Amino acid sequence: MFENKERTSIAELGEFGLIKHLTDNFKIKHESSVKGIGDDAAVFDFKDKQVLVSTDLLLEGIHFDLSYVPLMHLGYKAVQVNLSDIYAMNGMATQITVSIGVSSKFPLEAVEEIYKGIELACNKFNIDLVGGDTSASKQGLVISITSIGYAAKEDVTYRNGAQEGDLLCVSGDLGGAYVGLQILEREKQIFLENPQIQPDLEGKDYIIERQLKPEGRRDIVDLLAQIKVKPTSMIDVSDGLASEILHIATQSNVGVRIYEDKLPIDPQTYETARELGLDPTVCALNGGEDYELLFTIKQADYDKIKNDVDISVIGHITDQNSGCVMVSKSDVLHELKAQGWNAFKK
Ligand code: ADP
Ligand code: MG
Repeated sequence: MFENKERTSIAELGEFGLIKHLTDNFKIKHESSVKGIGDDAAVFDFKDKQVLVSTDLLLEGIHFDLSYVPLMHLGYKAVQVNLSDIYAMNGMATQITVSIGVSSKFPLEAVEEIYKGIELACNKFNIDLVGGDTSASKQGLVISITSIGYAAKEDVTYRNGAQEGDLLCVSGDLGGAYVGLQILEREKQIFLENPQIQPDLEGKDYIIERQLKPEGRRDIVDLLAQIKVKPTSMIDVSDGLASEILHIATQSNVGVRIYEDKLPIDPQTYETARELGLDPTVCALNGGEDYELLFTIKQADYDKIKNDVDISVIGHITDQNSGCVMVSKSDVLHELKAQGWNAFKK
């Protein structure tokens, strides 16, 4: 990947030199970041707010494939998927820590690319980089990010608050990231068989972007605050809609009924799924990595969201005995099953 580029060995800089080099550009933006990089621990002051913390671990070969994921995108996405968890609590994300394990095959320039992506995400979403850890790894690249945020106690939204009669809503559209990944995988196979062939990604820009450059839905958290809608439950769509619906249902002790014809699917996702012989509905239900927000609201709040093009009401909450089902376009009931992404599956 870096054959033609400049290669500076990380060993030349040493651990402390590397940390300084990578983090020098980052400026602290939040008053709540009392101490960032440079001491044994970061210090926060969130006054009377509740503090939200979430961590993700990303391993090369398990969570990402460097043959088609540019390193800058990887850094950007690693931050976004973390922020998404804070937004899913109806909170604001304010800080991250970044820990990396880097094998000797990576030159300094590669790690710089990752940090460019991290910086881009931090600037765009107003986040302070306040610490992390740095180590050599025997094999492959490891990135772990912890995100920190806050919310007023009464605003924090859990998975367990859905009640019978509530409306089930989702932001944006679904299935795009999964179908984008199928295109990238297809082009990778073609490339492996014949490296002379250039990847054909024409007309697939939206779904490729959904896969490589997802965005946490901070705008939805802002919007809900603005229109004074407190969701009764919320979760982000990382493993797939069906899997997330089951989390809300299990934790809230309720059933869910969704309608196939209400699922928001972008035309490019739909067409491409068809082209690949995939069912667009299955992609929306089980694809994952959309990083949209799935949430429930009181029926009384329907008027406040009904005109928002970025929020779809896809169903409602029922009693626990009714289970979790989808009404198909031909009016048949299907039980929802979690085929969520599972790294332990062979
Ligand atoms: P310690 O020996 O206490 O683990 P380090 O020397 O690893 O401290 O880190 C020094 C400072 O640099 C700390 O504030 C730490 O949080 C920060 N830091 C270390 N690695 C990274 C990184 N990859 N990205 C951002 N900050 C980092
Ligand atoms: Mg350390």
